[in-house]
Amino acid sequence: MARNTVWHPFTQHALEPAPMRISRAKGAWLEQPDNRRILDAISSWWVITHGHRYTPIVEAVHKQIDRLDQVIFAGCTHEPAERLADKLIEMAPRGLAHVFYSDSGSTSVEVALKMALGYWRNIGAPRTRIAAFEHGYHGDTIGTMSAGARGVFNAAYEPLLFDVVRIPFPHAGRGQETLDALDAACREEPLAALIVEPLIAGAGGMLIYTAETLAEMKRICERHGALFIADEVMTGWGRTGTLFACQQAKITPDILCLAKGLTGGVLPLAATLATERIFDAHYSEDRARTFFHSSSFTANPVCCAAALANLEVWENEPVLKRIGALAEHQDKQIRTFEADDRFENPRRLGTITAVDLKVADAGYLASAGIALRTHFLAHGVLLRPLGNTIYVMPPYCTTAADLSLVYETIRSAPDIVAL
Ligand SMILES: *Cc1c(COP(=O)(O)O)cnc(C)c1O
Repeated sequence: MARNTVWHPFTQHALEPAPMRISRAKGAWLEQPDNRRILDAISSWWVITHGHRYTPIVEAVHKQIDRLDQVIFAGCTHEPAERLADKLIEMAPRGLAHVFYSDSGSTSVEVALKMALGYWRNIGAPRTRIAAFEHGYHGDTIGTMSAGARGVFNAAYEPLLFDVVRIPFPHAGRGQETLDALDAACREEPLAALIVEPLIAGAGGMLIYTAETLAEMKRICERHGALFIADEVMTGWGRTGTLFACQQAKITPDILCLAKGLTGGVLPLAATLATERIFDAHYSEDRARTFFHSSSFTANPVCCAAALANLEVWENEPVLKRIGALAEHQDKQIRTFEADDRFENPRRLGTITAVDLKVADAGYLASAGIALRTHFLAHGVLLRPLGNTIYVMPPYCTTAADLSLVYETIRSAPDIVAL
């Protein structure tokens, strides 16, 4: 492959074909310069919710850029940030009171971890122990890699990662093991916080667990005074069938991380929402208790305007109904894999489906991943399997006919792996 100036994310340039060039996008479809169309079945890495270039959001961006592009957010404020914060608090699970902006899912989680440790220090009872799930993913910065599962992706940085208490994932029928491990960890030494991906571990392989287990984990944290951080970076904005996954367990986390679909996926923006108690711990005449965090583009006005337009779409349009219809189509498709013995564990949560390709040698599959992606693209579908897990996470405008195309190409995947 020709050497390229651009260094792509999660890309082995020595092995992978040249990246696909995209020049336009609309709805669920990407377009190449030669007008070839590719169905975006993974919402451009889980960010696009309503569809590409969704009109109300695009218009809000145009309007805002003509007024105020960017301004320092320490000592300054602006209407898009303030209105967005109020609306986020209104729509988020009840009990969250303050919004801290940043610019990616990873930073929203870093902010959450810093808020948790700041809370304990500022109330004079320092705690620094973090608990997190096996198979968890929270980002690619040092702090978020520490909370996430360890593996080939972060082996080089291992010496810099901090230790966390690893809680076993609540696989089907094994929820009690998770709860017992969490309870034991809390008793052993006080936890500063537990961080979880509610209802589904995304990058860890689209592993689903029950709302009952999620609710019970929150109760255990409450009982032991550990803060509960919900990383809804992927699950937020309707993916799991409700606006936020936490709603299905009827819980309010102490800290909630949002990014990806916050702007409908149009622009990068993240928000970390916290309860009054956590804000109050940082509210002091003692400057040392300040929450010392900032990114250059904190609360960028154009990004905030895009997010505000997204929240208005949620308010004014029947988004949940659309999601319900998409979930139904997804369900119909994924169920056909129950009778296909080349696959196992077909599953669905809200608009997300996943199925595991049966393979004798998982190591071989790692290299087959490129062949699979190439195969899907040749059929006009953008999919990016996680190991032997093929998942579909489409924008909400994706039609039943679009999905038929997606699943037809998935059905032919075993032939590719067998090559
Ligand atoms: C994608 C993701 C992140 C990281 O978000 P970035 O915007 O890529 O930094 C964090 N947590 C979860 C659950 C995610 O899916």
